[in-house]
Amino acid sequence: MRSKMMIAATCAFVTGLIPYAFARPSEGAPSQAQAETVADPAKILVDRLDLERYKAAIKGLTQFGDRREGTDRNRKAIDWIEAQLKSYGCANIERLKYNYQPPSSTASAAQPNNAGGPGTPMPATATAVGGGRPRGLRVRTGINVDPNAQTDLKLRELNSQPSAPGPREEIYCTKVGATHPGEMYIVGAHMDGKGWGEAANDDGSGTALVMELARVLSSRDVETERSIRFIFWNNEETGLNGSAAYVEQRKELQGKETPPGSGQYPEPKWLGMIQHDMMLFDHGMPREDGTVSKEQRPEADFNIEFQVNSKFAAQSQALAWTLEQAAEKYAMDYPASIGSHMTNTDSSPFMNAVAAISVRENERGTEIGNGWDPQWHQPTDVYATYYDKDFRLGLNAAQTTLAATAELAGATVKKENSSTR
Ligand SMILES: [Zn+2]
Repeated sequence: MRSKMMIAATCAFVTGLIPYAFARPSEGAPSQAQAETVADPAKILVDRLDLERYKAAIKGLTQFGDRREGTDRNRKAIDWIEAQLKSYGCANIERLKYNYQPPSSTASAAQPNNAGGPGTPMPATATAVGGGRPRGLRVRTGINVDPNAQTDLKLRELNSQPSAPGPREEIYCTKVGATHPGEMYIVGAHMDGKGWGEAANDDGSGTALVMELARVLSSRDVETERSIRFIFWNNEETGLNGSAAYVEQRKELQGKETPPGSGQYPEPKWLGMIQHDMMLFDHGMPREDGTVSKEQRPEADFNIEFQVNSKFAAQSQALAWTLEQAAEKYAMDYPASIGSHMTNTDSSPFMNAVAAISVRENERGTEIGNGWDPQWHQPTDVYATYYDKDFRLGLNAAQTTLAATAELAGATVKKENSSTR
């Protein structure tokens, strides 16, 4: 069983590499006119990302505070994202509608925020959520539910409306593939947050990353063979309810041409799901006194995770390595690392149906769970907390997913505009 899976994984891994090694150019010398479309579309696209634009997208999201689901500030943030997508030319903007009723026991929401305290050693037998083995020192994590913990009075006021049960929406737009419109890659992030801050990192940083990819790939001179859907999940923070609703409502619609003969596929067949969550902060392990370094550690990386205990583990691993290869080639400052314990993320509802991975600043189970990010669900998760070295980690992840998605979906850039952008 195990060896079979390894073989499958190896084959898929090699297949995943083919676009890099052999895809282009293969025969004869391209003419001057062809050169730009043939040479390296991923590079042209990656060059259209930049730090200031990425930061501006995060900043834009923070005007809606923590964007908690079931509030006006959450709904206004969705409208704002929609306006940005329109301005990028991302077509087919749609909303998934679902209903969210919180579990009857709300005891967990009322628990006091007890994050912090000293760094304590993990026992050798410890297991983290997701199945990984946590090492070193751990600091308690928690969720702030106390308005008064937010010392910025304006922000406290902005975040004051409580969440109400009921109808919910989440937004997505789609780049339709030119030759295989009925197949797609999903690129996602959750736009809701909590904790009485600005949800700048969790998950403004992932949401801004997906917005930037939607912008670059929606450019009129970019064509892809396969479709790419950019989704901004809601209700992640209540337990992945938005992504779970999407899988439930749309799984059976995959690959169906509707109406028949129209060439339209409302739900193209899923080829892979790449989720982004908390992309900025890798300052290392907490110290004995519970503090974490104020500066991004020079050896920071971003973490690509798949879940080894899922039906599509082999395919998910292959997808992870495709991103790792893209990072080696296109990520400017920081490398990517791969882990096998993906958990607590919007790619989880997909992982038994399609290759599914998650991209984060740290490993969710063993590192974030051990208190590596002191801003997590805290009032301090505001734009002003982060420095350019932090934002660069998110930008590097954007460079990586953009390049990998461009390769996987078969992107080309038409000659006409490529030199003027
Ligand atoms: Zn998150």
